[in-house]
Amino acid sequence: MNIVLMGGPGSGKGTQSEKLIEKYGLHHISTGDVLRGHIKNETELGKIAKSYIDEGQLIPDELMIEILDDVLEREAKDKPGVIFDGFPRTIPQAEALSSLLEKRGKELHAVIGLEVPEEVLVERMLNRGKQTGRADDNEDTIKKRLKVYHDQTEPLKEHYGKKNKYRAIKGTGSIEEIFASISKAIEEK
Ligand code: AMP
Repeated sequence: MNIVLMGGPGSGKGTQSEKLIEKYGLHHISTGDVLRGHIKNETELGKIAKSYIDEGQLIPDELMIEILDDVLEREAKDKPGVIFDGFPRTIPQAEALSSLLEKRGKELHAVIGLEVPEEVLVERMLNRGKQTGRADDNEDTIKKRLKVYHDQTEPLKEHYGKKNKYRAIKGTGSIEEIFASISKAIEEK
């Protein structure tokens, strides 16, 4: 079971991923976490990633797809399923994901979209910034990330809608309520 968890920045993808891992035994791949790991370890890739992340911009598709291919090869080969958190974020990435799964004899089960009003996203990210010190959770970068989400990532709803893979979930309420809706959507697919 391979699942994509989509949603704007601050929509709760990370929190809900943790619960999905626990319930369904899925392997978690968060491209944001992978990139932050490179930045922390001061790798060459980390330097490149930081220059985009600090500006609220996406890492170029070609590079991001190469990174994902590598992570899949290293971490997910013998796993029964993966939860993709933060990937794909563009149409070319979605197309690449299909081919990367196909070449491994796998397919996408469902795309879950956490829908959260913009003012709630901003509030959550500002809070997270205060609590964790996450560098891109500041007012300026948040604005840029939201624009990037609308322009580049939201078209994926239609892309996956046409393939009957997209399920929208209300991403407000308690963590448990949201998780119950996600589980229901996954099991109904
Ligand atoms: P996230 O933790 O998913 O919010 O990602 C944090 C930042 O990492 C994003 O604002 C992007 O700059 C970068 N990033 C994460 N995933 C991707 C992706 N699939 N494509 C391009 N950039 C990404």
